[in-house]
Amino acid sequence: MSLLPDNTRILLGPGPSMTVPRVMRAMAAPTLSHLDPVVLALIDDIRARLVRLFLAPEGSFAFAVSGTGTAGMETAVANLVAAGSRVLVVVTGYFGDRLAQMCERYGASVTRLEVEWGRACDPDALRSALSAGGFDLVAMVHAETSTGVLNPIDRLAPIAHEHGALTLVDAVSSFGGHPLDVAAWEIDACYSCTQKCLGAPSGMAPVVFGPRALARRVKCRSFYFDLQLLEDHWLRRKYHHTMSSALVYTLSEALTIVEEEGLESRWARHERNHHFLLDRLQTLNLSVLPPVGERLWTLNAVKVPPGIDEAAVRKHLLDEFSIEIGAGLGALGGKIWRVGLMGASSSPQLIVLLLGALESAFAAQGRAIHA
Ligand SMILES: *Cc1c(COP(=O)(O)O)cnc(C)c1O
Repeated sequence: MSLLPDNTRILLGPGPSMTVPRVMRAMAAPTLSHLDPVVLALIDDIRARLVRLFLAPEGSFAFAVSGTGTAGMETAVANLVAAGSRVLVVVTGYFGDRLAQMCERYGASVTRLEVEWGRACDPDALRSALSAGGFDLVAMVHAETSTGVLNPIDRLAPIAHEHGALTLVDAVSSFGGHPLDVAAWEIDACYSCTQKCLGAPSGMAPVVFGPRALARRVKCRSFYFDLQLLEDHWLRRKYHHTMSSALVYTLSEALTIVEEEGLESRWARHERNHHFLLDRLQTLNLSVLPPVGERLWTLNAVKVPPGIDEAAVRKHLLDEFSIEIGAGLGALGGKIWRVGLMGASSSPQLIVLLLGALESAFAAQGRAIHA
């Protein structure tokens, strides 16, 4: 008997998001070797698409590393951080903290700029944290999925450069959903994943190194994430590891779909659906944690109203409607639900479904629902 799922879940959590049907079909194409000419043509095409979609400057190296968003994070960190590197990490939530931990594991002397969970980093706070001088790298998260906050990377990254530091940016839940401009914003290294705003299953992490980062790379202590060895595969066709052809197909198809929709219309769709969700939530007296101007379109940190059993609501949604939403992480556990509207999950149809399901879940707890 098969243990595989036969029901589609409506994925409205912090990731994975819904996989686009065309991408599902791509997975069924024949398995090929990682050095097959067909796969090599696909990875060349993926590189070119990623340079365009990241809006990366000339002289950048964009590719995808085997693994999830965390593998992208580790690739960026492992090639820019060495023992004794001085790194400032902007910590606005769980993923900023993960970035700080990773830099520490690679031997950096880490200074954390801690920001209250639910708020974005103020450029003046970064300026004063950097005024001590001597930092090699500033690492920060664009879309903080644990709190639903968008950090103003366009204003933060140039401040890091004024102080002589490289910039490393986590765009795991913004790439393909929010405006992101690696060249104009002065981002030196950036990474994402496939299962959030790109509409593919997890397993390949897009990464880009700009010219400044390529020039200031360090001797990499990781074998799997060594940029030099990954360049040998992607550019010089040398064996490094057996990249999954099925995942190459899904990434290729997902990026093709993003370019067909167009970056700007895709950003506009995510913005529109975020506002549609907020309007609908208001009818249930619900709102989100971050203030206006600091909110993600891709991840909505919905505040749990007093007297509601938040875990029971998630269970009701899953059992009765096959809808998944996320719980709060760390200090926000029990305080928020995380509603992701990423990629194919950013759809008015699914928002209407979610609102009906939430009404049902609240009614099951004997709550009057309408404002
Ligand atoms: C999801 C996420 C990650 C980790 O990605 P995985 O694919 O789970 O490894 C890192 N950073 C942010 C901001 C994320 O949202």
